[in-house]
Amino acid sequence: MIKVTLLGTGGSAGVPMLGGADGSGDWGECDPAEPRNRRTRASIVIEQDGEALLIDTGPDMREQLLACRVRKVDAVLYTHAHADHILGLDDIRILNRLVDRPLEAFGTPQTLAELDMRFGYAFAPWHPPGFFRPVLMARPVEPGQTVDMRGMSVQLFDQDHGFTRSLGLRVGGFAYSTDAVDLDDAAFATLAGIDTWVVGCFQRHAHRTHAWLPRVLTWVDRLRPRRTVLTHMGPDMDFAWLGNKLPAGVEVGYDGLVLDVAT
Ligand SMILES: [Zn+2]
Ligand SMILES: [Zn+2]
Repeated sequence: MIKVTLLGTGGSAGVPMLGGADGSGDWGECDPAEPRNRRTRASIVIEQDGEALLIDTGPDMREQLLACRVRKVDAVLYTHAHADHILGLDDIRILNRLVDRPLEAFGTPQTLAELDMRFGYAFAPWHPPGFFRPVLMARPVEPGQTVDMRGMSVQLFDQDHGFTRSLGLRVGGFAYSTDAVDLDDAAFATLAGIDTWVVGCFQRHAHRTHAWLPRVLTWVDRLRPRRTVLTHMGPDMDFAWLGNKLPAGVEVGYDGLVLDVAT
């Protein structure tokens, strides 16, 4: 079994967005009284055999790991280098202390280059002891590869994210596709036969860089996973409204949701 925790299920601005009439937040179409509408930036952690692989380190990472009681992280995989997926990186220094070693950071060469540009100090050579800054070891990976990450066999595939690319990933019967507006045949081939799919679904209507509701449902129709969970949702995706629109086997994700998936 693998255990997947949805640390955050929101779009790049989170829900609520900053603002609102009294400054307490702009909820868009979302009902503020529904706690599952409060969404931090998209991220998950995958746990198998005592190892924890964190997918992305967004600006809410610290609060997410505390809220979901993640005791340690063993490696990080970056889907891409957009701000909502990387800006929590500095807190990796505390994750380093928890396991007392540098952490591997997997990502495409382009993603790792962007991380190095913004967080160069995290990739500098490390001289023990102590972690007074994040210490990451860059591990370049490419779509199409199957990569061993702390004993987990992770299949990577390319995703069209509009103006850039992102990485999708599959571990056993589980797959994660966030920040994709289009998936090609190679992606569908990698996804074939999955049990559980966490997939980004930003809003109700068409968008240039993110899949939207009708498009995601078309993908689900093609793949037919046993269970599909929506993530990376913006402020027009009210939990109850959306739940009533979804076919059997598709559900609205929320921060803190835990999925157990057979491998
Ligand atoms: Zn994003
Ligand atoms: Zn993005």
